Amino acid sequence: MTGGRRATRWRPGSGRSPSALEDELVLVTSDGEYRCSVAIFAVGMTEPWVPPIPGLELGMHYVHVSSAPDRYEDRRVVIVGKRNSAFEVGEAIVRSGLRELTLVSPRPPDLARLARSPLRPWYLTPYDEHVRGAPGRYVLNASVEKIERRGQEFLLHALDPTRPESVVVEVDDVVAATGFRAPLQDLPELGVTTVLDGRLPALTPFWESVTVPGVYFAGNVTQAAQGLRKHGVASVSSMVCGFRYNARILARHVAETVFGIRLGRPRIEPANVVPYLLGELTRAPELTMQKGYLARVLGIDAEAGIRNLGILPLEVFVDGSHDGVAATLEFDADETIRPVVYMRRRGVLNETALPPHPLRRYEDAEYGEPLDALVRPLLPS
Ligand SMILES: Cc1cc2nc3c(=O)[nH]c(=O)nc-3n(C[C@H](O)[C@H](O)[C@H](O)COP(=O)(O)OP(=O)(O)OC[C@H]3O[C@@H](n4cnc5c(N)ncnc54)[C@H](O)[C@@H]3O)c2cc1C
Repeated sequence: MTGGRRATRWRPGSGRSPSALEDELVLVTSDGEYRCSVAIFAVGMTEPWVPPIPGLELGMHYVHVSSAPDRYEDRRVVIVGKRNSAFEVGEAIVRSGLRELTLVSPRPPDLARLARSPLRPWYLTPYDEHVRGAPGRYVLNASVEKIERRGQEFLLHALDPTRPESVVVEVDDVVAATGFRAPLQDLPELGVTTVLDGRLPALTPFWESVTVPGVYFAGNVTQAAQGLRKHGVASVSSMVCGFRYNARILARHVAETVFGIRLGRPRIEPANVVPYLLGELTRAPELTMQKGYLARVLGIDAEAGIRNLGILPLEVFVDGSHDGVAATLEFDADETIRPVVYMRRRGVLNETALPPHPLRRYEDAEYGEPLDALVRPLLPS
């Protein structure tokens, strides 16, 4: 795609009244124009991004880090950033004979809460060496003010809130491990509101632009819809193992809301509700991977009975109005994984966390009895 615009067309055969107007998206590509009423952009987060710090340039982004074994030999290197990619790059170059390695960003790495942190322990050699005081290994919690070039070297000025003066680090190489942005091209000009300094579109829980109906996103851009983030835990929509489950829900949502294809909502007998939910909590990959983000949802209605509404974003159930049950897995405040059951009865929402299980197996009486006691008042007699 090289560009896009919104057009307005008349819906065929519906007369020329204003209500017959239907928005249309026109995708301008190197292969001509494509028209559609809905577009799903799975464009990834593929453009290097650096924050607006004087002297920090896109050419310093870590996509340009060389894999030549002697590239950083006897060099002083500073990495701007302290998330997973910063430590991953540090880990990759720390054994290449470099003289100094400094990682710098305002916030300390959240090592005490690894389940909710993007950090992977296998990249933490630079941090381990820093805390043990190894020569030339530093991890600074400071905000980078500016980077100046002085001859062949750079001076990085950082504001450490515990010190009156800027910390100045003299280095030979600056690496910006500051992340990526989605290649949104002219979508913001078409009205697609963005978040995170324009790096991602602002999305509804069904991954639709909050400002331009009909513009949806799939793939790792779906991380922009953050969900409930209970206890600060993020979804894993930034990774294939997470966003693949969002894609199924999105396809179903578009099929139903745009194309009017009503998919089945099988009825479940009251006696099967508890075993079914416990089986889902034990085995459903959507719940295992997208903890606290996706949920198995049953709708309960006096006339329609109990209906399986499928896997849905938990936020959709919590912010909805229909009576029913949503079962999910969540990290609690201590990072222990627990089944959590949300129930809405006569419009009142309650949530109950069940006990953890060391092997995350929930299909026995330890879970069946409390779940049965919870959901029985909801079920049609
Ligand atoms: C080093 C590294 C390691 C990773 N390891 C893992 C891992 O172990 N497990 C995991 O789950 N995830 C991992 N990830 C993340 C994973 O690779 C990405 O989340 C995933 O590739 C994103 O998929 P996507 O389809 O959203 O976007 P992408 O794979 O980035 O695909 C985007 C597509 O959109 C196309 N595109 C973009 N703009 C346009 C345009 N204007 N017109 C037409 N086409 C366009 C691109 O050509 C591309 O084909 C890793 C990522 C990196 C960088």
